[in-house]
This record gives sequence, structure tokens and C-alpha cells, in this order.
Amino acid sequence: MIIDRNLPGASSKVAAGVINPVTGKRLVKSWMINELNKSCLGFYKHFENVSNKSFFYNINVIRVFNNYQEQNDFISKSSETAYKNYLVDSSNQGALQFIKNDFGSGIIQQSAFLDTKTFLDVAKNILQEKATIVDAEFKFNDLNIKDTIEWNEVSSKRIIFCEGYRMKDNPFFGYLPLPSLKGEFLLIEAKELPRNNMIKKGVIIVPYDSDLFWVGSTYDRDELSLQNTEKGVEGLTEKLNQVLKVPYTIKETGFGIRPTVVDRRPLIGCHPHHKNLFVFNGLGSKGVSLAPYFAQHFIEYLEQDGKLMKEVDIVRYQKKFTFQ
Ligand SMILES: Cc1cc2nc3c(=O)[nH]c(=O)nc-3n(C[C@H](O)[C@H](O)[C@H](O)COP(=O)(O)OP(=O)(O)OC[C@H]3O[C@@H](n4cnc5c(N)ncnc54)[C@H](O)[C@@H]3O)c2cc1C
Repeated sequence: MIIDRNLPGASSKVAAGVINPVTGKRLVKSWMINELNKSCLGFYKHFENVSNKSFFYNINVIRVFNNYQEQNDFISKSSETAYKNYLVDSSNQGALQFIKNDFGSGIIQQSAFLDTKTFLDVAKNILQEKATIVDAEFKFNDLNIKDTIEWNEVSSKRIIFCEGYRMKDNPFFGYLPLPSLKGEFLLIEAKELPRNNMIKKGVIIVPYDSDLFWVGSTYDRDELSLQNTEKGVEGLTEKLNQVLKVPYTIKETGFGIRPTVVDRRPLIGCHPHHKNLFVFNGLGSKGVSLAPYFAQHFIEYLEQDGKLMKEVDIVRYQKKFTFQ
């Protein structure tokens, strides 16, 4: 049984869905990216085949440089053995007609994006055949923990909490460090912008539904209201103007709250006292790449060997708390 209500701030349904294997100013490969990419390809492609729908796209990121230093860093990194399958120097390509790339740009390969909305619809349809999906807000007062889990009229061997940023209000797992990180984004129409790449410069621009592009996003730890803000939308527009040469119109704005973790690793495991309560959370800003691999890992832990990677096991935080 899945209990899920589409509550404001939920993250997956609004995410850009990007898997970018090399990120940040210092161009660092994401944690476990080889294993995660392999798992994503198998997982998402399998569900594309099963559903006969497309939602996982292997397209490159064009990383547009802000100055010659960035260009140099990219070129030197692209010649390192560990990076040569990921980074391709394209700075000699000259000006591109649709973006401002005065300092050149490089290509990040083995990147992809998931159209999360379509994927979630497909997943829901498949799960509906195998499980009961209850559209309700889960209230902790309705939960009764014995040897089994009792919730309203339902009895279950165990319960797994996958609540995104709302875990902060969970009386059993709210002690785990999951600071919220709000992200605002735009959906724009830009008819002259090619749809065969993603573009990264300050913001990331992702080809989305029909004529639209997803543009985002902001990273705000303090302003966590469940709405778009003037500051967020203006900031994104400013960055967009610094990269696009072609005209565009803003069609929609949106936001979500990322469930981030202080050490940037997922939060998976069992409650220290209640052996039938579990948590699967902390996907931060990389849920699309982390979810398939770690869902599989979690299932093996639950059903087979009871072992979790120490980097993701919530035990790493339990030492800091005393439980009654
Ligand atoms: C603007 C933005 C852009 C992003 N871009 C990317 C990206 O490009 N690539 C990437 O990998 N990741 C991206 N992310 C991050 C990604 O969205 C998250 O890592 C991931 O979606 C988290 O998934 P989750 O299932 O833990 O949480 P959620 O997707 O938030 O799901 C939690 C679900 O539980 C429900 N729920 C919670 N409490 C209750 C309750 N009491 N009762 C009933 N239902 C409840 C919520 O309503 C929601 O449906 C982005 C996030 C944002 C906000």
C-alpha cells in the first residue's frame, strides 16, 4: 500500500530531472556516478519499454564558460584519464547562434534528463496494478505500532517513510538532519532554441514538454514559503538573459523543496527502537540518479542481507542522539 497526497513543496514532480555527472565550479565527478548511471539506464529504459512511452533522454550538457579561467580548467580536466569520457573540449567551435558563449563552451557527456512528470504517471499506473494507492494525508495520530503496524483499518509488517522534505515533522525520523532547500524555476517558450542539448550557465536550460524549456533553479535555505517569489523569478530571468540570444516568453513558474542532507548522502535505514519503521530519504538535489540504485540496495537490505552501505545508513547520525 502506498499512501501519498500531492502536498505543496513536493520535489520529484517539479524537478528538472537532470543527471549531470560533472558539476560545480571545480568540475568534480558526482559520487558513485558510474554505478548510478548504469543503474539509471537499466531502470528508466526498462520502464520506457514496459509503458511504451519516452521519458528518459540521453542528451549532453553544453557548459558555457564565464571567463577564460573556466575554459582553461575545463580543458585541463578533460585531458585527465578519469574525466575524458565525460568532458569534451568544444571551445574551438566558435560562437553559437542561440547562446552567448564569448568564452567558449565544453560538452558534458553521459548526462541525461528524466521527464519526471511522465515517469511518475507511468510508475503510478504500474503500481496501481500491484498495490493499493491511497490519496490521503498520513497523520501520525492514526498510527499504532505493535508487532505489526496498524493504520486505520490496515495492518502491515512494516512501514517505510519516503516523505521528502516533510520528514522534518516525522516524530520518529525528524531527528535526522534534513535541511530544506527551496528551488524556484521557470517554464519558458523559446521557439528558436534547439532542443538537442541542455545548456548550463548560471541556470540549466532543459528541453521540456512540446515547445517548453525548464529553467532553474534557485537554492534558498531561508525563504521557504510555499510559493514563487519576485526575487526568485527575477534572479532566474537575469541569469537567463545572460545566456540566451534568442527571444523567449515565461509561460509558468514553479517551486519545490529539496530534502538535502548535511553530508550529501541519502538517509536510509531502520528506526533504532522500532524495528518495523524505516526511512528512505535524503536524495537532496540528485534524486533522479540516486533513486534507482539505492531503492534496489534498500530492497536487498530489507529482504535479503540486512546490510546497508555505511555512507547511507542512518546509523551514522544515531550516535549523536540519545533515544528513550
Ligand atoms: C526545483 C528543483 C529542481 C530539481 N532538479 C533536479 C534535477 O535536475 N535532478 C535531480 O536528480 N534532482 C532534482 N531535484 C531534486 C529531486 O527532486 C529530489 O531529490 C527528489 O525528488 C526527492 O524525492 P522524494 O521522493 O524524497 O521527495 P518528494 O518528491 O518530495 O516526495 C515525497 C512525497 O511524499 C508526500 N508526502 C509527504 N508527507 C506526506 C504525508 N504526511 N501524507 C501523504 N503524503 C505525504 C509528498 O506530498 C510527496 O508526494 C530538484 C528539486 C527541485 C525542488
